[in-house]
Amino acid sequence: MKLDVLHVLRSPGTQYPFSVEQTMAPLDISGQEVSFDPVKLEGTMMAGSDGSVTVDGSLSTVAHTSCANCLAPASGTIAGEFRETFLFEGDPEDDEIFAYTGSALDLEKLTLTYVLLNMPSRFLCREDCVFAYEDEDEDVMMLCQDDLNVQRPFAALQQLLAEKSDNAEN
Ligand SMILES: [Zn+2]
Repeated sequence: MKLDVLHVLRSPGTQYPFSVEQTMAPLDISGQEVSFDPVKLEGTMMAGSDGSVTVDGSLSTVAHTSCANCLAPASGTIAGEFRETFLFEGDPEDDEIFAYTGSALDLEKLTLTYVLLNMPSRFLCREDCVFAYEDEDEDVMMLCQDDLNVQRPFAALQQLLAEKSDNAEN
């Protein structure tokens, strides 16, 4: 999404409201695919006397992935506030700054940055899907395996028998 700032540049120091939607490609986060509804960004933009444009506002979207606890589909709202200054003809390769050329701001990098900043560490299918898991990903995996064994008692039995024969050999 490009945000046209021609009218903003003509009146440095004047705040103009904006409201746009930015689409976001799915992300792979720790092996989990997370997809996003179009991200809504709204706020104000203002040009400086040096040709920079400062955007100040909030963004929100809904992320879709799988539950960190039981792997069922899960989604959650991501919302946050941003304030960044886009430098005119700044280095687009410089990760530390936002830059623009011509008379439009590209909001893709800002959107990605602030969605990641406000991303929860895990998503759950429902609020009470939180039994007994620990903070480590390893523990989440172990819990899932335990759940599978409860649903497949013969697999659990096989595992017990395997352990017994291991012990017998020792
Ligand atoms: Zn769950």
